[in-house]
Amino acid sequence: MWKQFAGKCLDLIIPPRCACCGQSVNDANHLCGTCWSKMEWIGKPFCTVSGLPFSYDLGQEMVSPSVMVDPPVYDRARSVAAFGETARRLVHQLKYYDRGDLASVMGQWMVRAGADCLVDPACWIVPVPLHITRLWKRRFNQAGLLAQAIARHTGTSYKPDLLRRVRSTRQQVGLSEEARRTNVEGAFQLHLPDRLSLSGRTIVLIDDVWTTGATLDACCRVLRRAEAGEICIITFARVVDGEQMPI
Ligand SMILES: [Zn+2]
Repeated sequence: MWKQFAGKCLDLIIPPRCACCGQSVNDANHLCGTCWSKMEWIGKPFCTVSGLPFSYDLGQEMVSPSVMVDPPVYDRARSVAAFGETARRLVHQLKYYDRGDLASVMGQWMVRAGADCLVDPACWIVPVPLHITRLWKRRFNQAGLLAQAIARHTGTSYKPDLLRRVRSTRQQVGLSEEARRTNVEGAFQLHLPDRLSLSGRTIVLIDDVWTTGATLDACCRVLRRAEAGEICIITFARVVDGEQMPI
């Protein structure tokens, strides 16, 4: 009750603003009607494995042909929205403009989008790590903030140190598929004193944006080698249909 009361008082002093455009709204950190409608939310129908939206609904659960031909390392992936202008602005606010407070609401949307990845209460929520030099510069890992929020909303365990980025990597955008793979090869290591405890464990990997997928793929390979159980990925945004928007 106190928390609610304090929240209302704060709203009177600092009126809540749209998390994307800054217009006045009723709830802090929520989107205004315009931004809400501009957000390219990913909903059904989508591929039950990759989570990529289908352009038409066949009325049943479907796996996309590309996933059938070349099955991914992960078991299931879900994203809140396509990486369009609105999602990009939100990610930028979180990442570059010190709006760590947005992680809670973005995390809530990720919990909803990735509900079928979060059914195992014993799952571990693991952020894609930053290299230590990048972490020093930015002071926080945006994927970590989202992962922490998801763990808090679902009562699951947040494991920020399970994966470590032991090698700094170049930006993936603009590289060929082969170059992307080489770029992230050996970049991640598992940090787990007791390997056995990962055996059969459901891992939910968290990142802000899914661009080329090579980084997430490299993380999944490390987890798979360590005999993790189900590996799921939840990202806030995802580049869909080869959209080439700068990160
Ligand atoms: Zn707005």
